[in-house]
This record gives sequence, C-alpha cells and structure tokens, in this order.
Amino acid sequence: MNRISFLKKSIGLAAGTSLLIQACRQDSSKKGTKGPHIIKKTKYRWKMVTTWPPDFPILGEGCKKFAQWVEEATDGALRIRVFGGGELIPPLEVFEAVSSGTAHMGSGASYYWAGRSPATQFFSTVPFGMNAQQMNGWLEVGGGMKLWKELYDGFNLIPLNAGNTGVQMGGWFNKKIDTPDDFNGLKMRMPGLGGKVLEKMGGAAVLLAGGEIFTGLERGVIDATEWIGPYHDYLMGFHKIAKYYYYPGWHEPGTTLEMIINKRHYNQLPKEIQSILQLAAVKLSQWTLASFEHKNAYYLDKIRKEAAVEILPFSREVLSVLNQRTKSVIEEVIAKDDFSKKIYDSYQSYRKQAATWGKMTEKAYYDWMIQ
Ligand code: CA
Repeated sequence: MNRISFLKKSIGLAAGTSLLIQACRQDSSKKGTKGPHIIKKTKYRWKMVTTWPPDFPILGEGCKKFAQWVEEATDGALRIRVFGGGELIPPLEVFEAVSSGTAHMGSGASYYWAGRSPATQFFSTVPFGMNAQQMNGWLEVGGGMKLWKELYDGFNLIPLNAGNTGVQMGGWFNKKIDTPDDFNGLKMRMPGLGGKVLEKMGGAAVLLAGGEIFTGLERGVIDATEWIGPYHDYLMGFHKIAKYYYYPGWHEPGTTLEMIINKRHYNQLPKEIQSILQLAAVKLSQWTLASFEHKNAYYLDKIRKEAAVEILPFSREVLSVLNQRTKSVIEEVIAKDDFSKKIYDSYQSYRKQAATWGKMTEKAYYDWMIQ
C-alpha cells in the first residue's frame, strides 16, 4: 500500500469512526436514553436476601444464577450479592427488609407474607388451584401480574414472576390415609392455606422450619409432613423414616416463586438495567421449572428403586372432601378482605377456563402418552 492510499484509508476510517460516534450520540439523544456506555460508568452493588437456606437446591441456586446473569449482561454494572436465609436476616424477614429498602431485593414465595396481606397467597399457590403453566398464563397475559403489582405497590415493592415448583407431592405419612376421617387428629407439617384445610379435616397443622422436620417425623412430634417433590424430599431423607408417600400435592399444585425489588432502588437504575432484571427473571422462571421437572422425575425413580416406601394416590373420596373444605377456607379469606376478593375473582375466572381447556388437552393426553 502506498502512502497516499494509506492516508486515504486512515482518513476514511477516522471519518467512519467519528461518524459512528456521532450516530450513536444522535441515536441516544433521540431516544432520550444515555446509551449503553452509561452502564459501565455507574456501579450498582445490591444485596439480595432470600427465604431459602444457603445454597438450597434449585431455589437458592437459581438466585445465584440470576445474580450471575445480571452481572454478565450489565458487564459488571449491577452486581448482586445473594444471602441465604439467616445469613443476613432471618428468612421470614425478607419482605420487610426489601419493603423498607434495607435490602435491594429478595427471593421467596408470596404465601409467606399472608400476615402482611392475605391476598398475597393467590400469587403463590392455592389448594386445588392452578398449575405452573396456568399460573404463568394468568400472571403473564391474563391480568394476574397487574393485580400483583398493584398489591405490592402498597409495600414499595415490585414483584417478578421468578419460577414455579410444578405440582408438588402430597407428603410423607406413617399411617395410611384411606378415608377423610384418617386426617382426624393427624399432626402434619403443612403451611399456608393447605394447613387451614387440614385443620378443617380435624388435623393439626404444625409449623416446623426445614431443619426440624426430619427429627420431628422420626421422633413422632409430627405424624406426617409435606415438603416439595421427590428431589428435595429425597435430600431430606424422608424416604428412610416414612412408610407412605402420597400424591398429588393438592395443597400446592404449582407454587409460583417470586423476586421482589424495592421500588426506590429499582427506580434509581438506568432503564437498560431494569430491563435486564426483568429478562433475567424470565430466564430464571424457565430454568426453575425445567430443573424441577428434570430432578423430580429422576428422583422419583430413585425413591422407587431404593426405598421401602409405598407410593400411593389419595383416594377420590379423600380428595373430594379436601376440595370441599378448601372452598370454605377460601370463602373465609375473601369474605374478610376486599383485595383478596378482587384478586380471587380474577384468579377464579381464569382457573375455570384453564381447567376446561387443560382437561381436554393435558389430562386427556397424559393417559395415552407412551411410557
Ligand atoms: Ca410444599
């Protein structure tokens, strides 16, 4: 290359570069944004508090993945430090800590906050309610998320749909549940609305923290416990001390998991980072449900092969009475709280349609799926 053509080329490149910069500037000013280069200028350092034990499989793991995705996508502009339950604050203080802004964000499930507002429960799970894909349908496109945002706005929080456990298992028992009367006097670890239903059946809902359940069941402090599904249940070792493993998890047919963000902290972020948080929650949602599906199927097989446990369905009679008792528990909740009524009306009309559709498709199909 001679000197003249080299200079021409260099000038051309330089002109091209400055044009590019100019174009970027014009583009940024047109959109009214500060451009992606801003992400690199301001560093945000956030704390995420969680209700899960440190490094809890899938749920705690997912929080760390979320933080990693956000850090990568923002090129380090937003770094989120994840704290397991009890590491910074007790697990059930997450809502308060994020609401007040002490922590920037948190991870949990909305039924933990029923004491703050009973209406929160409809955004996690309801006995005999919607499953994972129906919850996603209601939340993402059926009006549910709008109501969730409205409810949490009163607590300075922004909710994100951050995953789902899928249908859970009915729990571990040391006596057979043949009829509804078998719940009479039964001491079972079961939180939330399911626990209220159990009490209407004549049982006692016992609240035990995760770490106390195994010993409680082993020593007879409780007669039964629900937990999550085969994967987490296996890790807890329930198959070593219980005789019967019942299904389905009528009390938790698809528990939605949440990320909550303090509104003030969220509003201080550039739009690009806000979008990245929203998108990371969508990715987490998919990863979480996929992980539950994958691990539960594998661990159910493992329990079948390794444990001397009978895996049994609840009878139609038992499920029918549980279903009736659930209706009265929900009636009581919505009768006392207007916001709960408003949310439940939306939930219920969505459930009705989803159930008709699901019975004709998923349910009918499962009976014929090649195994
Ligand atoms: Ca559960």
